[in-house]
Amino acid sequence: MANLALLVDASPAISADHPRVGEILQNALTALVTATRASNALPKTSLELDLYRSFPSYLGFCHEQAAGLQSRLAHLIRQVGSLPPPPGADVDDQLENIVEANDGIMEKVSLILDRLSGLRQSELPVLPTGLEPPKTFVSSWNRGRKGEADSSTIRLLTVGRLPRPQLSFPTPPDNSNRRFLPKLQLKPNALSPLPSELLVWQKKEEKRKMKDEEEPPPELFAHPYKYEIEQLEMPAHLLEAPTQEPPDPMEDGACEIVQDPEKLQAVLDDLMKYKEIAVDLEHHSYRSYLGFTCLIQLSTSDKDYILDALVLRGHLHLLNRVFTHPGILKVFHGASMDMIWLQRDFGVYVVSMWDTAEGSRLLTGRRAGLRHLLLQYCDVSADKRYQLADWRIRPLPDEMVRYARQDTHYLLYIALRQRQDLLDRGGVSFIRQAWSLSKAVALKHYEKPLYSEEAFEVFLHSRERGITSNLRNVTAMRLLHAWRDNIARVEDESSGYVLPNHMLLKISHELPKTVQGVLACCVPPPPLLCRHLADVHTLVLQAWNSPEDSAQQGANGKSEHLEKPAKENVVYCTELCDEPTTYSLLANEKALESVQIAQPVITLFEESHPQGGKEAKRKQRALEIQQSFSNPFMLFLPSEAAKVLVPCPGGLVDQTTQSFAMLQKWKLLDATATPAKLPKKRSVETQKVVDLTGKEGKSMSIKEQIHGSSTQNDGEIKKKKKKKTLKQAAEPKLLPHDYNQSDFSVFNTRATANKKEFDPTKQTREKTKKRIATRRQFEPRGVSYTQGKHARDAVHRWPRR
Ligand code: AMP
Ligand code: MN
Ligand code: ZN
Repeated sequence: MANLALLVDASPAISADHPRVGEILQNALTALVTATRASNALPKTSLELDLYRSFPSYLGFCHEQAAGLQSRLAHLIRQVGSLPPPPGADVDDQLENIVEANDGIMEKVSLILDRLSGLRQSELPVLPTGLEPPKTFVSSWNRGRKGEADSSTIRLLTVGRLPRPQLSFPTPPDNSNRRFLPKLQLKPNALSPLPSELLVWQKKEEKRKMKDEEEPPPELFAHPYKYEIEQLEMPAHLLEAPTQEPPDPMEDGACEIVQDPEKLQAVLDDLMKYKEIAVDLEHHSYRSYLGFTCLIQLSTSDKDYILDALVLRGHLHLLNRVFTHPGILKVFHGASMDMIWLQRDFGVYVVSMWDTAEGSRLLTGRRAGLRHLLLQYCDVSADKRYQLADWRIRPLPDEMVRYARQDTHYLLYIALRQRQDLLDRGGVSFIRQAWSLSKAVALKHYEKPLYSEEAFEVFLHSRERGITSNLRNVTAMRLLHAWRDNIARVEDESSGYVLPNHMLLKISHELPKTVQGVLACCVPPPPLLCRHLADVHTLVLQAWNSPEDSAQQGANGKSEHLEKPAKENVVYCTELCDEPTTYSLLANEKALESVQIAQPVITLFEESHPQGGKEAKRKQRALEIQQSFSNPFMLFLPSEAAKVLVPCPGGLVDQTTQSFAMLQKWKLLDATATPAKLPKKRSVETQKVVDLTGKEGKSMSIKEQIHGSSTQNDGEIKKKKKKKTLKQAAEPKLLPHDYNQSDFSVFNTRATANKKEFDPTKQTREKTKKRIATRRQFEPRGVSYTQGKHARDAVHRWPRR
């Protein structure tokens, strides 16, 4: 302990901008040696010690030092996001806390090293050859329709550690819970002017000055090219169907990969010469909150272009010159998501568009996949195996280029043949109908998914099977769902990366009382769960505080408790300011009528606005949510100025840390309690709990649940030690999955028997008993992931290929 504390003392010399790691290590080592010497010099034998202790001044000095050391340790432990041992905890418990905290540090170091080496490896794409992903990777949203023979052949092309392209975007993604304001700053081919006010509001947004009270007027959120699209006449040439030879095989044609803004200009100049161009996009959504476009494929009748949307991100708004040109028909296949991605990432809109998926809907009654059309019209058997490739990989491997090209290379010819078929079967009216259907797709309007109580309700109702009978389970789901969303925004990850649905449901169902129990629900544990384990555990304990079932809550408790307003919510916001600040989130409080006992509420979304109407309510909600966002750097840094230890379930908690903020933010308010008061030290401690197996457990305090009882005498401590060793032996420490240990042969077509690869949809208990210190690279490999489906449960039908 002394060693560690000395290291803390040495820490001012070890700053982030320290020039050399070697020097840091040297400093640390010197501090360690000094501390070891000092500790060795302390009186050890019991006789000697007893003698020393008989001097009150010595004893006093020892106590003082011990208290100092303990407080530094607690400080350190809090910094890594763990709960410090409660005051008076025995040495054993304290040691355990230190080991846990150390593990946490090692994990973070490992993560950061991974990330760093990922950045350094940007020139070296690792391309597993002959890949055949395990079927388990194909999540439910990606399974082909029954009877589709090729559903198992989708290839997951992926690289172990990829740099995060978001880091080099000119403007970082706006993960706030505010509505999306169109990005358009110049409006080429305009018939109606761009509202000048829009630019003013965009600037405010950029400078992050936007206050929620002064939200932009609703008309500014509208589709900027609505008028142009709606009034556009169908191009006359759509009614002519000249006979045309199928395009040359792709391999014979020219293809240019564009990564340089100057070349982009040349591409645009070239595109302006054509009456029709084909367009498609590739997208990534697993390692990002909102997702981002990675590629834009363009084809003319002469050439294919692949625009690298990651490096050209800041320039692609220039596409509007062509994309909104009414004289150039843009042919897409299944464009609804493309419209949204273009608007969200580049402020690009499409005027004059033909969607071959809509055309096929008229012809066959269903939107045929591109694969089907390629076969039908071009006799090309398409390779759809890279559909879920990680499109962040750079430089683009040839296989991926080929796949991306294929999506647009034949599309102009397909559209032509389709129009001929439409004319043959339904005449001009069919063509007109397909044109209107395509117009409707072009009018699709991006709205950012906002987190609200409704978002949780949608999630709940889509997967309530068997778990909503118990209100505690629902409460845990609610808390975890909101926590997951917040972490995903802060870390810019998809919610599925933070905590996959099945793990969220398992935790909510099992309500594990221990940190280990939480980990046991998540195999392999996602990295961000490991980092915030203490917080998740706290949330589960919060759920325990809610009534067990809705009967206790009155009839139909599930929805009832959502509508009950909370009396007051106190949030210690460590993220927005250094000092803990108290926010009263409820402006207008309404007296609670006929309140039932101890109802669980997430006060973040609980509100009562007797006056003000919908608008005020929305603004208020936006403000509340904004205030709840965390600056990732402040999460674990308690403010130096105010080290206030506050009694909480589980001991004293520094109220400047995130753990404390979590406790407060997600506090389940007892309607009968005085809201402003902090939880009394002992009042909530004796509460009946149910053990992991679901049987009625003995009465156990929350404090005991977290730290075990600390009031035993020596004999008990010894027994406990024994028990602890036994327990540890019986219950292997669950560690995050080590992806180094993954069996790469699963990527091999021939070796599918021995599948060990990470499968976020499957529970496989890995035997990872290695020390965390030796662990590396546990990040799951990037995969395409439908943020829309997982995070918001919005049902999106992917265009069939
Ligand atoms: P596509 O237009 O078929 O090339 O698809 C464009 C992007 O949509 C791909 O890069 C994927 O990110 C995503 N995507 C397409 N199909 C699916 C699917 N079935 N499941 C999840 N994502 C998909
Ligand atoms: Mn597409
Ligand atoms: Zn595509």
